[in-house]
Amino acid sequence: MNFEQFNLHEKIIAGVKASGYIEPTPIQVESIPSIMEGRDVMGLAQTGTGKTAAFVLPILQRLLNGPRRVVRALIIAPTRELTEQTHEAIGQLGCKTGLRSLSIYGGVGIMPQIQALRTGVDIVSACPGRLLDHVNRKTINLSKIEVLVLDEADQMFDMGFLPDIRKIIKSLPNVRQTLLFSATMPADIRGLANDILRNPVSFQIGHSQPASTVAHTFYPVETQRKNVLLDKILADTETGPVLVFTRTKIRSKRVAQHLDQSGYKTAALHGNLSQSQRQKALDGFRSGRYKILVATDVAARGIDVRKVSHVINYDIPNTAEAYTHRIGRTGRACETGDAFTFVTCEDKILTRSIGKLLGGNVTYCSLEGFPDISAVLDGAAEGGRSRAKSGMRPNKPNRPAGSYSKEKSNRWNAQGRR
Ligand code: AMP
Repeated sequence: MNFEQFNLHEKIIAGVKASGYIEPTPIQVESIPSIMEGRDVMGLAQTGTGKTAAFVLPILQRLLNGPRRVVRALIIAPTRELTEQTHEAIGQLGCKTGLRSLSIYGGVGIMPQIQALRTGVDIVSACPGRLLDHVNRKTINLSKIEVLVLDEADQMFDMGFLPDIRKIIKSLPNVRQTLLFSATMPADIRGLANDILRNPVSFQIGHSQPASTVAHTFYPVETQRKNVLLDKILADTETGPVLVFTRTKIRSKRVAQHLDQSGYKTAALHGNLSQSQRQKALDGFRSGRYKILVATDVAARGIDVRKVSHVINYDIPNTAEAYTHRIGRTGRACETGDAFTFVTCEDKILTRSIGKLLGGNVTYCSLEGFPDISAVLDGAAEGGRSRAKSGMRPNKPNRPAGSYSKEKSNRWNAQGRR
């Protein structure tokens, strides 16, 4: 299976090569032909499956013909980071096409965006709030949109963007192609899909389960000793870049400070930072200047750092779905990763529900001097392999050090067309 079979224009194939993609991922195999036929699509796809290229490539192909410098494709996504990443993917995959892309989001000046829109662009990646602002100011013309993509629709719903999205859709032509991607399918997203998709082709890639390229370990710990556990794990484990998740902004700042003082090059990423501070943290993490990034859920949404070897849930996520999203940051694009989750007595219910989501694919591990899983969680180990042996050094990684980035696998879990 290769990209040539899609009959993409040679200029686009050149962009695929420049991106280093050799084989299409399952969601690309499944969806690119239908999208190229002009069909509407509903993709239930977990993060890290390659869905961005799955919609970007057919969009580039469509836009090669026809007028230039009018907005003909619109991608709406929940966060600035995701918007920026999609914009970058378009830049890379479309590097030989001459098509112009623009990202639009709040928290930065609106004038440069207005200026760029005046100059003329072909594809816009936008967050709903700022996009609606442009619509209201009439600084963007959406009357020529041919393709609309709603990316990470469930997250947009969680963030309260659905009313804005419905308003934006009203200013689009009725005749268009619509693609909706979501990691999960809550009722409201189904409702939106029913309203806006015409006879869609549906794909489900990997349910809403975390990528199967990730190994999951839960560590029982007392709340006040999380830093001690974190230090121990980092000292005992060989890692590549590490992403640590905390529940609050303040905690993300404090944990980052603690790690920095312990000698790890660390950055924090949370909603209290300015856009340029966020970008600096992200760029530094991507380039390897920071080995550890400590982030909150919203800030980390959509972060695409291919070589994250370990995700550490310093605080357990609030829902099983949020676990899927967090863990989607590792094990991306056929690479493998580890997910470590700190669990305390207060996390009993969440530990059970996430354990259930993982379907027994979780290892429970008690380190020497830390509580035993059964004592802390009172039966939460059901459904998983308990490896709770006090004193063992569990995370000499679940695979040989350094091999995580090389393991090739076809565990993308394509569920195929329904
Ligand atoms: P996404 O799910 O779109 O966020 O993509 C996850 C990661 O996979 C990104 O780093 C993409 O650049 C990468 N990717 C997408 N398609 C492919 C492919 N066919 N081969 C290798 N990497 C890919």
